Amino acid sequence: MTKSSQFNKGNVILTNPEEGYYGIAVVLSEKKNTHEFYPWCHIAITPLIFERKVQLQELDINQLKPLVFKRSYNLKGKEKFFKEEISIGIYTRSNKHGFEILGSIDPKKVYDGPLPFMPLTGLDITFPMYDEVNNYLGREAFIQWASEHIVEIDCKHGKGISSIVCSHLLSKNKALGFIENASDPHDLQGWCYDCENLFLKEGEMSDKFLKFSSANVVCTTCYDELKTFHQID
Ligand SMILES: [Zn+2]
Ligand SMILES: [Zn+2]
Repeated sequence: MTKSSQFNKGNVILTNPEEGYYGIAVVLSEKKNTHEFYPWCHIAITPLIFERKVQLQELDINQLKPLVFKRSYNLKGKEKFFKEEISIGIYTRSNKHGFEILGSIDPKKVYDGPLPFMPLTGLDITFPMYDEVNNYLGREAFIQWASEHIVEIDCKHGKGISSIVCSHLLSKNKALGFIENASDPHDLQGWCYDCENLFLKEGEMSDKFLKFSSANVVCTTCYDELKTFHQID
């Protein structure tokens, strides 16, 4: 394991999206700096989450793929719809937060599609442009993981199954609105109207959104209580 001040193509990054949880991200491309541009790279977030630090040798490289979200939206006044998002973003190559690099692999094994840096005409694919990689790198993989795993958490309600809410919903001062973006009872995720507005504005789970929403894991009893409290008709 090494620390490097700059991400290079093929680097396997050990992320730390939540205390005690580690994930894997892979640098898919790199661009040198020119007079006009900072050096940029594409980074793919994989769905892998571990409860300890892992080594590169423990990973099955052929299984390393970018996280794909399949979200179902149940928005008020709209028909239920689905949206698929692939977790690849454009970041600056600066490893300012000192993420551990587990090693390097052939990034084409992870993702072999086009990797434009600019929105290209005639290409359907564009990737969101982020700024520097921050502590939240891989957060969406953790949220996805926590929503798919029956994670038992300790709560005032006893041991319970985890679900996800935004941090705003935790305060019960006034009803903030409750948007439930999953209908699967094992994949409960809710956020408030402010989060929803930002999400629609950003068009995706951007860093800005993840920071603002700051997802929390609560038990399903808490979730139901919060939903009842915050729902506005
Ligand atoms: Zn919120
Ligand atoms: Zn609870």
